[in-house]
Amino acid sequence: MTLRIYNTLTGKKEDFVPLQEGKVGMYVCGVTVYDLSHIGHARSTVVFDTIYRYLRYRSYDVTYVRNFTDIDDKIIKRANKDGVNYRVIAEKYIHEFNVDMGSLGLEKPTLEPKATDHIPEMIQLVSTLMDKGYAYQSNGDVFFSVEKFADYGKLSKRNLEEMEAGARVEIDEKKRNPMDFALWKASKPKEPFWESPWGQGRPGWHIECSVMSQKYLGESFDIHGGGRDLIFPHHENETAQSEGASGKPFAKYWIHNGFVNINKEKMSKSLGNILTIKEIVQHWHPEVIRLFLLSQHYRSPVDFSEESLLEAKSSLDRFYTTMKALQDELAKPDASTSRTDVPSLAEHHQAVESFQSKIEEAMDDDFNTALALGYFHTLLTHLNALLDLSKGKPTQDIASLLHKGLDHLLKFGWIFGLFREEPKQYLAMAKREGLKKLSVSEEEVLKLIEERIVARKGKHWKRADEIRNDLLSKGIVLEDGPTGTHWKLK
Ligand SMILES: [Zn+2]
Repeated sequence: MTLRIYNTLTGKKEDFVPLQEGKVGMYVCGVTVYDLSHIGHARSTVVFDTIYRYLRYRSYDVTYVRNFTDIDDKIIKRANKDGVNYRVIAEKYIHEFNVDMGSLGLEKPTLEPKATDHIPEMIQLVSTLMDKGYAYQSNGDVFFSVEKFADYGKLSKRNLEEMEAGARVEIDEKKRNPMDFALWKASKPKEPFWESPWGQGRPGWHIECSVMSQKYLGESFDIHGGGRDLIFPHHENETAQSEGASGKPFAKYWIHNGFVNINKEKMSKSLGNILTIKEIVQHWHPEVIRLFLLSQHYRSPVDFSEESLLEAKSSLDRFYTTMKALQDELAKPDASTSRTDVPSLAEHHQAVESFQSKIEEAMDDDFNTALALGYFHTLLTHLNALLDLSKGKPTQDIASLLHKGLDHLLKFGWIFGLFREEPKQYLAMAKREGLKKLSVSEEEVLKLIEERIVARKGKHWKRADEIRNDLLSKGIVLEDGPTGTHWKLK
């Protein structure tokens, strides 16, 4: 099957045909480094990380570029507030971003260029736009003239007259048209600046992405991505600048991910409900976060809530529990000769064998991670049924299916950044974390188990039951078995 991608530019799902066979150039807008990254950034980076992984799984040679906006009004404001140079702020939050991405288990992009390392190229691009009549100078600022670019609005599906009529942009005497946007800004006192043909100043926001994408991927390249909030004006303006200057099509496919809501509310500074990645990884395993974020199609909104994360966590726990059981079962000797029954495996065989094509089908359909994860759950059900049939005595046929199933989880889990932990360690960690949430220490539980054993030996049944029920009411289940009494979380 061919990979199909929903292209914001055409508003359709299209067959993915890269400009150069076997190669993909992908540029994704990164963060403006003036503050800690939040769950919205986590979504965008996880979505494009998964796309990056899947393209590589599909044997494409991918060049993935994600930039840092390290000069911007917000950075300057923060630096002035903190009384430091803007570079101090930028470096600090680049570092924090890298820490956060590491904690989410993201692959490093091929290149992570910074805006301020590309000032000469930006000045060059602005000069080209002026030479070609797309830009004009006004008191040290340089603006892009939207009227000069006939296709302005093609990405965001807006038309210039409507935009002008509905524009609430503040009147700027310096602009010829209120929709014109800055390519270069004259510096104000106490602001960082670079020398340019138009005097001391600094680049406008959009120009950096035109420069860095084209420098590393060529004037025309395959995929440009980002959050859907960037479609207008950022990506619209990037397109106008880039195509105006080169006269060639810019990005071929535009991919935009949806928003993250918090408890069904929009995330915003004014609502005070911004969740940083640091806060989230404190409470949730990175794979729980990935499972949650990828459980919706990337274009749909996702709603972050305690319940949805708990749901993702119990899913992940189930996967690891089964993986551990598979490992244990596969460590047992072949029981083909000692079993007289021949369980029917046809249905499970079919499920295990078709798994790869199902995952590819889902991901080829515009990276439908929600559907793909659904297939993982189906596989899990079959593997658990096989474990039941195995009954601790795996035959060769059963073992071969269990083996394949476990391989599937590991191999295809990689695309989604899942199942990277050793199951035994993950489960032990989950148990400890779970206990911590109940405010009970493992020591206390073990002490009570010991006390119960003594009570039972002395036939103090009431006390023994009391201990069991007390623990149960706290969410801890005791299980008596041939190897003694063990505890688990309800
Ligand atoms: Zn950008």
